[in-house]
Amino acid sequence: MDMRLHEYQAKDVFADAGIPTPESQLASDVDGVVSAADEIGYPVAVKAQVHVGGRGKAGGIELVDDADEAREAADSILGMDLKGYHVEQVLVEEAVDFTNELYVGITMDRGEGKPVAMVSTKGGVNIEEVAEEDPDAIAREHVDPSFGMHPYQARKAVYDAGVDEAVARDVSSILKTLYDLWENKDGSDVEINPLMITADDEVIAADAVMNVDEDALFRQPELAEMEEEAASGDELEQKADEYNFDYVRLSGNTGIIGNGAGLVMTTLDLVDHYGGEPANFLDVGGGAKAERIANALDMVFSDDNVDSVVFNIFGGITRGDEVARGINEALEQFDEIPKPVVVRLAGTNWEEGMEILNEDLVTVEQTLEDAVQRAVEYAEEVNEQ
Ligand code: GDP
Ligand code: MN
Repeated sequence: MDMRLHEYQAKDVFADAGIPTPESQLASDVDGVVSAADEIGYPVAVKAQVHVGGRGKAGGIELVDDADEAREAADSILGMDLKGYHVEQVLVEEAVDFTNELYVGITMDRGEGKPVAMVSTKGGVNIEEVAEEDPDAIAREHVDPSFGMHPYQARKAVYDAGVDEAVARDVSSILKTLYDLWENKDGSDVEINPLMITADDEVIAADAVMNVDEDALFRQPELAEMEEEAASGDELEQKADEYNFDYVRLSGNTGIIGNGAGLVMTTLDLVDHYGGEPANFLDVGGGAKAERIANALDMVFSDDNVDSVVFNIFGGITRGDEVARGINEALEQFDEIPKPVVVRLAGTNWEEGMEILNEDLVTVEQTLEDAVQRAVEYAEEVNEQ
């Protein structure tokens, strides 16, 4: 798994490595925002510190011109729910007056088995969209990890992307620094979007993303210290930690519960295949007892984005009858089932399980394909209403 740094943490790491970043201060209450803004000088940007992209569009970033506006922005952003994340901190940052926004980033190209540096003059927007709609707008340069990134490779990527000559040198040097960070800090994704260019040809990292390999934290004490603070404000992810589930929140509305990572992944792919959108990855693990099943349902039900739930359980150590009892018990607590639940059981004791399941409470399907299709239909029906 990756550990994802907050923007302010990634900016600290970038700044230490010599990448220019705007002057900024972290704040967690309204007065703190206003005094930080007063100190920095207006205009400033007030930016939600949560682990989601597209904060700008979602209302998590505001540019303000005076103390009153700073207070209003702080009031609306602090405590807001941003795509399921509770905003507890904001970065108050000197606003940059820019003429251009670039994208620069380093990631692992699994197909090539090599890190790849990417540069685009279409920065500022969602780079995945650029990659899909206009792939040529992103220049790519693969790096041999045993040699590291040569300065000429950085220059080539920047040149290929068509970056303005006046800033090409600075951008190349930032790209090379970014690569060195990726390598030396065990990064998985490291990116700046936007890398802002000002009218005076200054180059400034206005945003910062740094994801690092969690398994390497033992040799990155500086990053390991940031880990606690980086813990996401996502209540469901915290709940998942308590229950000891492998859980990842996704952006769709079909909730998925399964046992075993491979099985859950397959279910995710099938939901996608049948035109649905997975709301989460939730692996309840092996030997799932009734109580764990109830906890898993509790988690998925408490996700507002979920419109239907599909259970995909393959019995090995986990017995189908045990799971079925867990599902019944969990659902019997409700006067009204909050969201339709579809269950598919296979493996050990699946037949007993199917008999035990209370079909007044759940829809039972024989095959995984049928179960997934049914759940996707239920989710669509909710959306049509
Ligand atoms: P993201 O939406 O979560 O990726 O957050 P970003 O930090 O990338 O900010 C999104 C957008 O907000 C940028 O592309 C800018 O257009 C705008 N923005 C952010 N900071 C500043 C700033 O300091 N000055 C100006 N003018 N715009 C900013
Ligand atoms: Mn950004």
